[in-house]
Amino acid sequence: MCTVRHRLADGFAISARRYSEAAAGLGRPGILQHDLMRQFGELQEAMRHSEAAFMALRNHINEHQCGPGYSNGREGRIPINSIGAD
Ligand SMILES: [Zn+2]
Repeated sequence: MCTVRHRLADGFAISARRYSEAAAGLGRPGILQHDLMRQFGELQEAMRHSEAAFMALRNHINEHQCGPGYSNGREGRIPINSIGAD
């Protein structure tokens, strides 16, 4: 169990959820134009956070290779199937 990967995945999940909620919020009916612009700004901010969290998680998985089956060295690919598996 890699606590770093666990923490990074949690952070990505939280920021991705915020991104998703911000996107859904833009589709609500009856929003005034200036509120739309503010919410669009929040959406962009959430997108940047989400991207940063994704990159951190991806880099960790690439470089640490901490998933099951990767304890014996580096194989140069992302172990997608191991995300969240332990
Ligand atoms: Zn790790």
